[in-house]
Amino acid sequence: MPVSWYICLRMAENKTVRPSFDEIYMDLAENLALRSHCVKAKVGAVLTKDTRIISLGYNGPPAGTHNCDLEWPETGCPRDSKGSCSLALHAEMNAILYASKNNVPIEDCTLYVTLSPCISCARIIYSMGIKKVIYLHSYAEYKKIPSDEGVDFLLKFGVDVIRYQKK
Ligand SMILES: [Zn+2]
Ligand SMILES: [Zn+2]
Repeated sequence: MPVSWYICLRMAENKTVRPSFDEIYMDLAENLALRSHCVKAKVGAVLTKDTRIISLGYNGPPAGTHNCDLEWPETGCPRDSKGSCSLALHAEMNAILYASKNNVPIEDCTLYVTLSPCISCARIIYSMGIKKVIYLHSYAEYKKIPSDEGVDFLLKFGVDVIRYQKK
């Protein structure tokens, strides 16, 4: 029996469901979030183009500087006026910076991120020409603020933003 038939049969037996790229990349973003040293929100991001990964990142201070959870296990790291880590780069920033540093074009990319972008990241996402953002959790719900200002900004200026619904 040809190998391909065998694989098809095996898949039918196991009722293997063929995952969509959205599922694969959001799963990856969630796994990346687990690598974060942040004592509060752990966020992961995957940057893709034509269904291929071009960069990824998770939130935290620049590589080689601080590991918040290890340095401040009791008190947590220094906070800014909004209560966020004052040392960290956000996950989507880390993904964008890595691509930029390596001269990978970002225009027309799709960004998967486990938490909707804050307003600062939204401005950069827009400026970089990222065309679509798919997020899992709401930044507004997490911060208990009335609106997702990052999402509102992106939608207003023509970036597709979709909240991912987990199956
Ligand atoms: Zn921190
Ligand atoms: Zn941000």
